[in-house]
Amino acid sequence: MINLGNFSSIFVANWKLNGNIEFIDKYYQNLLPNSENCTIICSPHIFLKSLKSNKVNLFAGAQDVSEYNEGAYTGEISASMVAEYSRYVLVGHSERRMFFNESNDILIKKIMLAYKYNLIPIFCFGENLENREKGDYLSIIKQQIEKVIFPVFSSSVFLNQTLIVAYEPVWAIGTGKHASPEQISEVHDYARNLLIDNIGNIKGSVPILYGGSCNSQNAKSILEQKNVNGLLIGGASLDVDHFTKIIQIAHGLS
Ligand code: PEP
Repeated sequence: MINLGNFSSIFVANWKLNGNIEFIDKYYQNLLPNSENCTIICSPHIFLKSLKSNKVNLFAGAQDVSEYNEGAYTGEISASMVAEYSRYVLVGHSERRMFFNESNDILIKKIMLAYKYNLIPIFCFGENLENREKGDYLSIIKQQIEKVIFPVFSSSVFLNQTLIVAYEPVWAIGTGKHASPEQISEVHDYARNLLIDNIGNIKGSVPILYGGSCNSQNAKSILEQKNVNGLLIGGASLDVDHFTKIIQIAHGLS
């Protein structure tokens, strides 16, 4: 039984470095989340406060959080600050790992601080093109999960905390080349078993999202896979009508 609460799927929009107040006003006027799904909009931090909405099952999420709680870290935004305006936070997006050199140790600190302030982390993992072509992608994925998620949950303090994970093959992000349903299914089944075998049934029930060039054309075939519990959407989420259409596709499937 996947721990989705009352939701049938989770949809996360990752706006990346995009958006302004006018964009948000229009977006929120036209966005149609629905009662069956959880919809999370991850905006740049500065707009989190503007994402307040009365719409049903619509939540704000941050795209990152500092590994520090307070102190002399100019420009950083801490988990306690993020928690004033949002419930969710992306941790370990491949763009953060690649462009900001975020190591596994840093990601562990971020997840622990997120939990301290009641944020729900959405932990991203996924292989790059070289790993995929060499065929060692499952061992890379194993390492990414093993080195971050297992240490966090080895402490009983965190065992009951909610976690969401997202499989995001780096070669599929922003490239227009999504992973096939078979490729997605293989990794999601693998990740599910890894979590069950190593941190037991509670964490074996975490929602596993897929991200990487999702759009309204491929959403249905991806969402139909057994261990796919939702989607993380970058480019296509910037067009509110397109994003709404993807959410409506899931509605049709449940
Ligand atoms: C992402 O930003 O995590 C992402 C999946 O982007 P895109 O949908 O554009 O590939």
